[in-house]
Amino acid sequence: MHIHKHFINGLLTKGCEHSQPVFNPATGEQTSVVSLASAEDAEYAITVAKAAFAAWKKTTPLSRARIMFRFKELVEQHLEELAALLTSEHGKLFEDACGEMIRGLEVVEFACGIPHLLKGEHTENVGTGVDAWTVNQPLGVVAGITPFNFPAMVPMWMFPLAIACGNTFILKPSEKDPSLPLRFAELMKEAGLPDGVFNVVNGDKEAVDVLLTHPDIQAVSFVGSTPIAEYIYTTASAHGKRVQALGGAKNHMVVMPDADMDQVVNALVGAAYGSAGERCMAISIAVAVGDVADKLVEKLAIKVSELKIGNGKEKGLEMGPLISRQHLDKVKRYVDLGVEEGADLVVDGRNLTVAGCENGYFIGGCLFDHVSSDMTIYQKEIFGPVLCVVRVPDYSAAVELINAHEYGNGTAIFTRDGDCARQYAHEIQVGMVGINVPIPVPMAFHSFGGWKRSLFGPLHMHGPDGVRFYTRRKAITSRWPTGIRNGAEFVIPTMK
Ligand code: NAD
Repeated sequence: MHIHKHFINGLLTKGCEHSQPVFNPATGEQTSVVSLASAEDAEYAITVAKAAFAAWKKTTPLSRARIMFRFKELVEQHLEELAALLTSEHGKLFEDACGEMIRGLEVVEFACGIPHLLKGEHTENVGTGVDAWTVNQPLGVVAGITPFNFPAMVPMWMFPLAIACGNTFILKPSEKDPSLPLRFAELMKEAGLPDGVFNVVNGDKEAVDVLLTHPDIQAVSFVGSTPIAEYIYTTASAHGKRVQALGGAKNHMVVMPDADMDQVVNALVGAAYGSAGERCMAISIAVAVGDVADKLVEKLAIKVSELKIGNGKEKGLEMGPLISRQHLDKVKRYVDLGVEEGADLVVDGRNLTVAGCENGYFIGGCLFDHVSSDMTIYQKEIFGPVLCVVRVPDYSAAVELINAHEYGNGTAIFTRDGDCARQYAHEIQVGMVGINVPIPVPMAFHSFGGWKRSLFGPLHMHGPDGVRFYTRRKAITSRWPTGIRNGAEFVIPTMK
């Protein structure tokens, strides 16, 4: 059986004695084994990355950009092979996997502009005969820890920009779908990246804890669930590191009475059930304003019960399986709880079986109506194909509800009223807002991040915030000896 090893110093290192199985979620079959790094393996990767930094930081931004251009070409050449691999480990539809790769590649395209992005500022004659400028320098060895649900895109939010900025990188991907990051490391090498600049360490908490505490790690980027994001943020910060830790979500879509109902229903079905709801930007709550709920639920129920579900490698489907047996059981438990707590289960997907995939981790789309904010299914991130409809009397009640939720990743409002949409964008306490756009994921040249307990740390990911996160600014003030000589100055100098 294939063993996923680690990629350190340009080589696939041999796996250690600790490992865990990797499954195909559509069939339930074990397909491979992933090595789990020991603390010593992680320390070795840090030593290698630190040694590589000495030469890498001296390379020109232009030469780094050229490697990114070649990497982009290689990923494009291998797109179908990589997407098929992604589907076989994650379960999402092949077309969705292709889309994920392309969204990740957009960050690589952004990183190709690094010579421009790294430019500092310059003021000639900040004082008489004195010039001042700033430069943006790399930090050193930086680490990324990523979740299962975007095994290609989320690592690509991090390593292309970190490396283009002149850092060396250690990626600790999800142990549930480890293939893509290892293939990226091989393709980066093929694109011309020197050994040791990009390393992949597979593993669990043991490896992560080394990355959070080791004195040679300068910064940590994390994407995953909120309890782990908080742990990563507090632990790595306490060890003096720069941290950005993106956490979980519960995204609301407000449906105003004037919205185009067919547009709303299509948007909701795609945003709630796409990728089986395993997206941090999935809509899991529809907030029906005024009298819109009956019509909305009626139309949704038809679409949700007709979802085409199966093995993501097949064509013409709308949803694949969940990631694991444990996660399937957890999602089903939430649906049970919703019923116990008194919500109205309009579409029940719990008993779905897919012919030919009887051991796969499938659940059908579930739709709850009459959900209230005191229910567990309203409060917790379910991370499955479960949409909850909450009924509110008016716009203000919708805003109050959403602003009171602990998460603030993404949200959307559907309306034809520009004033209402503008007010919503202004006052909602959420990091990413869509106006008639259900999943408002910012493009790579903007930055991605939530508010409240969906993000720990001040900076969002990729885009301008990504460049800021992976660089340190230095301000230089210079006077040449031929300039004015004042003798010793004992009071704070002011410029004239
Ligand atoms: P997770 O938190 O279980 O795991 C994320 C990473 O942390 C993995 O690499 C995992 O190995 C590691 N990890 C897990 N437990 C750990 C521990 N105790 N100590 C140290 N490291 C640990 O998340 P997941 O299940 O892989 O991914 C789903 C979650 O990620 C959801 O909550 C989803 O909302 C979130 N997510 C958020 C965003 C965002 O942008 N905010 C994007 C994608 C996913």
